[in-house]
Amino acid sequence: MNKHSKIYVAGHRGLVGSAIMRKLQQEGYTNIITRTHKELDLTNQAQTQEFFEKEKPEYVFLAAAKVGGIHANDTYPADFAYINIMIESNVIKASYDYGVKKLLFLGSSCIYPKLCPQPIKEEYLLTGPLEKTNEAYAIAKIAGLKMCQYFNSQYGTNYITVMPTNLYGPNDNFDLETSHVLAALLRKFHEAKIDKKQYVEVWGTGTPRREFLHVDDLADAVVYLMNNYNENEPLNIGTGKDITIKELAELIKEIVGYEGEIKFDTTKPDGTPRKLLDVSRLHATGWKHKIELREGIQSTYEWFKENWK
Ligand code: GDP
Repeated sequence: MNKHSKIYVAGHRGLVGSAIMRKLQQEGYTNIITRTHKELDLTNQAQTQEFFEKEKPEYVFLAAAKVGGIHANDTYPADFAYINIMIESNVIKASYDYGVKKLLFLGSSCIYPKLCPQPIKEEYLLTGPLEKTNEAYAIAKIAGLKMCQYFNSQYGTNYITVMPTNLYGPNDNFDLETSHVLAALLRKFHEAKIDKKQYVEVWGTGTPRREFLHVDDLADAVVYLMNNYNENEPLNIGTGKDITIKELAELIKEIVGYEGEIKFDTTKPDGTPRKLLDVSRLHATGWKHKIELREGIQSTYEWFKENWK
């Protein structure tokens, strides 16, 4: 990309898309185009085609998706499958039809098999059964990733896929029903502190392990990879370090300054026991994360207090 390239960020208001926008603007890219959900429904093929025909973007960051935490994924599988497959199909096909030079597709670490060896190497994709609580989302993301590869092999396009680990940061979803764990716990501990509650409920047993990456690091990585990575194989993006949900809860409790207790609600699902990404291929490209978990949670908590209504 050069600083005047026409860049379309699909999903620019979400956690990932908004971070990509901040990064591109910081780096001096001047020709970024966006559309709100209201202006352009990416599940609608005709609207998507019309948009690409009119705008003819050169580069596409495909960060538009229906996303959610363990409860949302488990409860609305039809929506997760349908909406994501439609968005991917429409954007990838329109990118091909209207000559996009390069597209970067956001996959996810939850698309790997439930019980694959740890840390997870890219080659473990499609080697075993998926975790049931997010199977629909995983199937949709696998379809998108494969479609990028099929377009590359059949039509010679340059569509790359990255597989981010669990993300957090500004503009995360803090709704307790649909959010991921880190945002949910920040809100729960914050409210418990304000309301002087005796305890905070954490879902599951606390034993699953998760890896967390600040979304500003992800944005830094994807802009770097748009300029430097041209392989057909997907690339993991993470920190290479994970912690248990119990340790995460204790860390957030400390950062928020809550003094009550933590209780585990074991009627709620744990999900996959562990999903730690192997980031050796990522590091070999020359990129490494910069924001460590404690400082990332601290700054996200500051953002939450100032911006969340
Ligand atoms: P996952 O990584 O796809 O399993 O999605 P989540 O981020 O939603 O959940 C990660 C882990 O955190 C699971 O074991 C959850 O049961 C656990 N967890 C603990 N408390 C919460 C909570 O309040 N919300 C969510 N979403 N997960 C929680």
